[in-house]
Amino acid sequence: MAEQTLAFQAEVTKLLHIVANSLYSRKEVFLRELISNASDACDRLRYEAITSPALAAGDSEFRVVLRPDEKARTLTIWDNGIGMTRQDLIDNLGTIARSGSAAFAEQLAARKSDGAEKTDDVSLIGQFGVGFYSAFIVSDKVEVISRRAGQADAWRWTSDGQGTFTIVEAERNGRGTTIVLHVRKDQEEFLQPGTLRRVVKAHSDHIGLPVTLAAKDGEAKDEEVLNAASALWTRPRKEVTEEQYREFYQHVAHAFDDPWMTIHAKAEGRLEYTTLLFVPTMRPADLFHSERKAPVRLYVRRVFVTDDAKALLPSYLRFLRGVVDTEDIALNVSREMLQHDPVLARIGSALVTRVLSELEKKAEKEPEEYAKFWATFGPVVKEGLYEDSTKRDQLLKLARFHSVAPEARKGEGAGDKLVSLAEYVGRLKDKQDSIYFITGDDAAALKSSPQIEGFLARGYEVLLLSDPVDEFWVTAVGPYEGKKFVSASQGAADLGAAPPSAEKKEAADSGELAVLIALLKQNLGEAVQDVRASERLTDSAVCLVAGANDLPRHLARMLRAQGQIQATPAGVLEINPSHALIRGLAKLSMNAGARGRLDDLGRLLLDQARIREGELPNDIAAFARRMAEVMTEAVSAKA
Ligand code: ADP
Ligand code: MG
Repeated sequence: MAEQTLAFQAEVTKLLHIVANSLYSRKEVFLRELISNASDACDRLRYEAITSPALAAGDSEFRVVLRPDEKARTLTIWDNGIGMTRQDLIDNLGTIARSGSAAFAEQLAARKSDGAEKTDDVSLIGQFGVGFYSAFIVSDKVEVISRRAGQADAWRWTSDGQGTFTIVEAERNGRGTTIVLHVRKDQEEFLQPGTLRRVVKAHSDHIGLPVTLAAKDGEAKDEEVLNAASALWTRPRKEVTEEQYREFYQHVAHAFDDPWMTIHAKAEGRLEYTTLLFVPTMRPADLFHSERKAPVRLYVRRVFVTDDAKALLPSYLRFLRGVVDTEDIALNVSREMLQHDPVLARIGSALVTRVLSELEKKAEKEPEEYAKFWATFGPVVKEGLYEDSTKRDQLLKLARFHSVAPEARKGEGAGDKLVSLAEYVGRLKDKQDSIYFITGDDAAALKSSPQIEGFLARGYEVLLLSDPVDEFWVTAVGPYEGKKFVSASQGAADLGAAPPSAEKKEAADSGELAVLIALLKQNLGEAVQDVRASERLTDSAVCLVAGANDLPRHLARMLRAQGQIQATPAGVLEINPSHALIRGLAKLSMNAGARGRLDDLGRLLLDQARIREGELPNDIAAFARRMAEVMTEAVSAKA
């Protein structure tokens, strides 16, 4: 086939333009990316060779070889991995398929529409890495010669990174990929063995196969091994530095932050496995994509098997990254069969227990660090509260909440810090047998909700639940240490005696109040489910609550926003008999001539309660008209 010239996908061209023009200071990362790809290619072949040994026959010592040539000003990165077909070369090196570069491109698009400066693009490369394309950080031309294992034909992909690449049939001795970098004049340091030794040691030491430096005249036996060449997780913990853990994390996770927590453990006994797991510091971009792969890589006796072992870890721990390597699974079963291997589930369950107890320790020892973790991944962990009843108690222990404490009790430790349920229960009032909470979009706004005034006035602390997932677990989870979770914004608040602060306040006459309530019910009709005097309110005049058996109002708003229900159910309007406005309305309701006026004011009252919850008035035009009338009256009274 004659040489063909093809265009890069538009995103790639953009990305390459930034790569080539960046003054990126850590140029050496290109080598980490290319070695990482070579190592992945060897991993994939090693696995395929289990069922098709012929693929690796004759050359089963997987390795990556670096060969600098000062005269030709080239650096060659050679591997005997799985290789690429012609189509693979086009697909893999001509488009952005991989998660890291795709995330990079997305970020880029987002920043571009912000009109941000180009200097930001450079720092983005540092955050995301650009995989194969990082070859162009140091090269003005790149050649990739590849031969797929089991195939006779080889292909050469060539590009100067300027919008197009060419593909032509080529020769290659055996399977694998050879990448020839035509190093730019000002990057010649990457042709020096000393530089290569240092860079490999710094960024690729954890790679499980040898990365070697070819001797000048190219005899294989003279190759110098530059890295430790043993899988990092197989090494004793004491011998691994923090820096090496970090490099390894970034390699397996395709991540560019630091690990927040590292769990490196070896289990012996009934189950034998080694695990090296990381909790990231930053939220991975695809954390909430349901179709994402399970992120922990499964190895069996050092052979990479799959990064899609869904049975291994539950979805509420999907932020974990790393590897699990076990002795206990047969290697010659298909990946599909493997998903159902009971050993996998048992290892998974042991891992969950391990991870949760490490988190618990961290929470005890470093509560501030833990609070950062919880802010990042708490919404995911809380999914476990309704998905995995066996881990419920452990998960409840790990959960942290914003809470609002009564003024008088701020000194007792309640306040702006996140609280645990143990702390909440440790501060219960006498005879309090419930854990009170309120749900909404935003913890700060929830703090001043009218619905919780009466709880605070009576000395009860209230948890502020503002993650969407809260609506689902809190009703499903059952009691904590015998204390039920009770919504402060649903049903009748059974709060008993009036709070001490209310005693001084004058309340509406009960006869007048009864008339007012009857009239409000009549006027508002279907718009409310009921109208009643409130035990909840101390300062505000009105609020809306959900009926005892209704959908919680915040949940109803969420479902409506997603189009799952048409309208939120009518709420119960609670009024505060001690509020001057309600007292005045109660008086007004005795005046038969003012009934029309009362109708308008009642509707304003309801609209106000709706707005307070972030909803719109039922009839915006009517609301505006009534509001204008009331304001007109107010200014005429003053004038
Ligand atoms: P990623 O490694 O995250 O998939 P890269 O941009 O680094 O993304 O590489 C893109 C793709 O090109 C890889 O997924 C792989 O399919 C292919 N590839 C790159 N280098 C090699 C190689 N040395 N051998 C085989 N395939 C490779
Ligand atoms: Mg890569």
